[in-house]
Formats: sequence, structure tokens, C-alpha cells
Amino acid sequence: SSHLGSEKEAALAADPSDGPTIFDKILWKEIPSQVVYEDEKTLAFRDISPQAPVHIIIIPKVKDGLSRLAKAEERHFKVMGHLLYAAKIIAKQEKLDDGFRIIINDGPNGCQSVYHLHIHLLGGRQMNWPPG
Ligand code: 5GP
Repeated sequence: SSHLGSEKEAALAADPSDGPTIFDKILWKEIPSQVVYEDEKTLAFRDISPQAPVHIIIIPKVKDGLSRLAKAEERHFKVMGHLLYAAKIIAKQEKLDDGFRIIINDGPNGCQSVYHLHIHLLGGRQMNWPPG
């Protein structure tokens, strides 16, 4: 994704159905990834197209219908809290003591390209506001 707008193009071309995604292949080690954190509920690995010196994707190991945040139900409360807490643990592990940003992209307008709920953890540089 080197040319301008390719993330957005990927997002607009993405399949928003509830089927398997590339993140399942990462979970099953069918494709390699740089895992930085793992526990019983979550896996975290470095983004293949980093947008900051530190760019990590944190996912639930069991999707359970959570293709996107818009699909969240009460049964997901615990795993969503777990993802957020994992982000804090990983930020400390990555020495992001001066701060960091977490992002959840939802749907086409949110530029979501992989339909398995995930938190982006970005850090290692000054972030800008507002985001694009
Ligand atoms: P989204 O745009 O859906 O919020 O984020 C999906 C992210 O997954 C993107 O930042 C993209 O670079 C990353 N990604 C997509 N495919 C792969 C892959 O095969 N490996 C890794 N490590 N990251 C990926």
C-alpha cells in the first residue's frame, strides 16, 4: 500500500460479511506475523503497513460475530474490555510512556478493511488531530 489512497481503496473494496478474514490466517499461523503479545483472549501483532514507528493490531482470538464494532452486543463487553486493557499493557511493553493512540475503524466510512474487530495501537511519534 504505497500509493496515496490505497488504504481507503482497500476499505471500500473490503468484504463486510461475517466470514473468515486474513486475521484468522494470522491466528492459525497460516501466514506469518510479528506477534508482540498474546493471552487467552487476545493476539497482538505488528501491522504490515505501519503508520507510525509502533503500529500494532490487537484482535480477539474468537470473533463471535464481532466483524466490526457496530455488531457489538452485551455478550462482547468482557472481550472488548480485555482488548482495551491489552492495548495498555502493550503500550507499556513498547515503552510508549509519552503517549499513544488507539483507533477502531468501523465500516466503509471508518476505512475498515478487515472485518474482524481490531484495535490499532499507534505510537513512537507525535500524533496529529484531527485524524484524516
Ligand atoms: P483496518 O483498516 O481494517 O482498520 O485495519 C486493517 C489493518 O490490517 C491495516 O492497517 C493493514 O495494514 C493490516 N493488515 C492487513 N493485512 C495484514 C497482514 O496480512 N498482516 C499484518 N501484519 N497486517 C495486515
